[in-house]
Amino acid sequence: MNGSVLSLRDLKVTYANGVHALRGIDLEIGRGEALALVGESGCGKSTLATAILGLLPAGTLVGGEILLQGQPVVGVEGSRLRSLRGRLAGLVIQDPMGSFNPVMRVGAHVIEARRLHDRTSSERALWPWAARLLDSLRIPEPERRARHYPHEWSGGMLQRAAIAAATANHPPLLIADEPTASLDGDLAVEVMEGLRERQLREGTAMLLVTHQLGLAAHVAERIAVMYAGRLVEVGASRQVVRSPRHPYSRALLAALPRPGRGLPEPLEGEVPSLVSPPLGCAFAGRCPIAEGGCGQGEPPELMDGLACPVVRRQLVGDRPGCARSRDWDVSGKRGRLHG
Ligand code: SF4
Repeated sequence: MNGSVLSLRDLKVTYANGVHALRGIDLEIGRGEALALVGESGCGKSTLATAILGLLPAGTLVGGEILLQGQPVVGVEGSRLRSLRGRLAGLVIQDPMGSFNPVMRVGAHVIEARRLHDRTSSERALWPWAARLLDSLRIPEPERRARHYPHEWSGGMLQRAAIAAATANHPPLLIADEPTASLDGDLAVEVMEGLRERQLREGTAMLLVTHQLGLAAHVAERIAVMYAGRLVEVGASRQVVRSPRHPYSRALLAALPRPGRGLPEPLEGEVPSLVSPPLGCAFAGRCPIAEGGCGQGEPPELMDGLACPVVRRQLVGDRPGCARSRDWDVSGKRGRLHG
């Protein structure tokens, strides 16, 4: 991909407790592109976001390559790493209250984020700039409210202030890790709209980490589905949501309440322990179309955006010119494969 803002090559992360949280991730995000990373809790989504920013705990082993605007992150430490954060990638985390120092005014946080990388203006001179930035994120009465302390703001407003701080230096990549997880319906929509507007206005690329497939499809151009520390499907949002190919993507979709599609079908079982990851495909224990060879050898590689040789074989058999289309059975329902 030309003009990649983020490039990951065979990224592996093993925590000090022996958990192999990421087991070979290859992914690129282009300039201005929004990509959503989806999967259940424990699949490695947040580890991926944290690794990109070099924020993994001490003692964690990281292998492979992370390039932010072509600059390596793996192996970089101290002030050089800090200078990459904020300047090349901003982070919005799920707990807005946890992002703010309770004894510091909200506007001062936004100003501090800017001054970490740009000391050309004094703090005092930057208050009107901070108010304008908050105004662009639809914070009412921004001049007055910027002087408030975090406890005087609602969760939705604080999350928008966190977006302001994360984008204060116009980083080419914004990482949003479950940014609406702690917010109720209307507030979540408000925050997501603020995030998307800012991303589009600035031409910033975005990595949205979420377990909500619907939100991912609404916000991102591409979706990457993650399972047990590996990517199992990557494709255009529309394709992944309308015609998911990997059995795990299909199971995630089947678990969603969708009008006119009958009752949601919860995904049975759990993500396997990643202290000793299973052989072969980690989804084999939950997969309705698993075959004998699925739980053997190396995990399936992601090829053409799909990490399942069984489905790939079926799709090839489904092409025009082949004997017939093939029905299959996922989550107990007869269905048809979509290419
Ligand atoms: S490789 Fe086998 S177990 Fe894994 S998703 Fe494909 S069919 Fe299922």
